[in-house]
Formats: sequence, structure tokens, C-alpha cells
Amino acid sequence: MNPISVRLNLHGDLDFFVRSGTRGRWIERSLGEKTSVKDVIEACGVPHPEIDLILVNGQPVDFDCAIAGDADIEVYPVETGSTIFKNKRLQISTDRAFVLDVHLGRLARNLRLLGFDVAYDPNAEDRQLLCTMKSEDRALLTRDRRLLMHAVVRTGYCPRSQNADEQTVEVIRRFDLLGSLAPFTRCVRCNAPLQMVSKTEIIERLEPLTKIYYEQFRRCTGCSQIYWPGSHFSKLQKRIEQIRMNSNR
Ligand SMILES: [Zn+2]
Repeated sequence: MNPISVRLNLHGDLDFFVRSGTRGRWIERSLGEKTSVKDVIEACGVPHPEIDLILVNGQPVDFDCAIAGDADIEVYPVETGSTIFKNKRLQISTDRAFVLDVHLGRLARNLRLLGFDVAYDPNAEDRQLLCTMKSEDRALLTRDRRLLMHAVVRTGYCPRSQNADEQTVEVIRRFDLLGSLAPFTRCVRCNAPLQMVSKTEIIERLEPLTKIYYEQFRRCTGCSQIYWPGSHFSKLQKRIEQIRMNSNR
């Protein structure tokens, strides 16, 4: 059998996953045998959860489409507002819950601060992450693209930036979360929801100055941590406002 020759065109920011020398150009590959389009694309470095639309010779296909002859393959990322082949999109999810890889601790804090349900264990191994993802129906966030390529991953995302605030903006855009922000409603330590609590109920646990200056308190329904709009609060609010503005661009 003659080798099958394919050409891939990565749209949007998907060339993040290929070496800088091949960015912005068609990638040429030769296949020794019939191969699924998913495997062809992942062999170029792009994990399947990053792919929202595949066109083979101009026609939309699923991940398991077999490439048996020469083909041009166009690969599109998830982009809100994109309208071509709207009913052929591969990432149909309304995920609002996440599980984060160990190296994304600051992003986990940020997302919880904004009210999102985030499972995060700094000691989790890969198989634990996949297990939590599956059993709790969460989207996987990791910069480990090999992990993102694992066959059981349905929904996931690889943050491009190394900066936690920029990553937060990326995640808000990728999962279309801007309308769902609920800052200061979730515990950044343990992920449980916060509840308003009266000052008298917790006064024993407050420092003398906090007792004097603050009236509004929330308590974590999980770990009982007390939160109040203290001195760092306006700084946090500014950061959240910045994230909100950047996500809206
Ligand atoms: Zn807590």
C-alpha cells in the first residue's frame, strides 16, 4: 500500500501545541496505514479536548473518522461565537465544575474565589485526576498535554499562560463563564460554599480589631473558616474586576 499523505491546518491558537518552526504553515504527514483523524491530529501534539471542529477535505467529521486516502485536514479550537458548522461541533459541554492538575494551585484558588466548583489536591496523581474527572463529571484543566490526550478525557483544557490571572481569563473564555461569576461565595481552601453568619455566633473566634471593625461575616460550610471583607478585600476586588474586564475582550 502506498503511504497516505495528509496535510493539517491548525486554526486559532492551536499552533500553541506545535513547534514554533511549523506554526502558521500546513503540517505534512505521511501515514503507513488507515488511521483515525483523532490519532493523526494528536500525533501532531494537539490534544482532542482542544478540538471543536474537524473538516476533512472540507467536510465536518467525528474523531473516529478513518483517514484512508490523501486528505486535507482543518482543525478548529473552541471559540465562542463561531458559527460555521454549528451542529458539527465536537465539544458540546456546559461544564461549570473542574478538576485541576497539581501545578495549577493558584488557578484553583482564583476559580474558587470567583465561585466555581474546583477539585484540587496538590498531591493528586494522574489516575486520581482522571478518576475525579469521570466520577464527578468535571472538566480537566492541566498543562500536561499527554494527560489531556488520555482517551477517557471528554472535556478539558490546557492553559496557555503560566500566569494564574491570565489562565483564569482563558478558562472563563473557554468555558463561557463570564455570566456565572459569583465572587466570595466559595471557600478558597476547601471548595465548600460559604454561608452568611451573624457576628454573635462567631465572635469568640475573632481577633480584637476584627471584632471592632467588621460586621459582615461568612463561614465555610465545609471547614468552618471565617471570611470577612478585611484589608486585602479591596485588592482582591480589583483583581477580580481586572479578570472580568480581560475576559470580556
Ligand atoms: Zn472551607
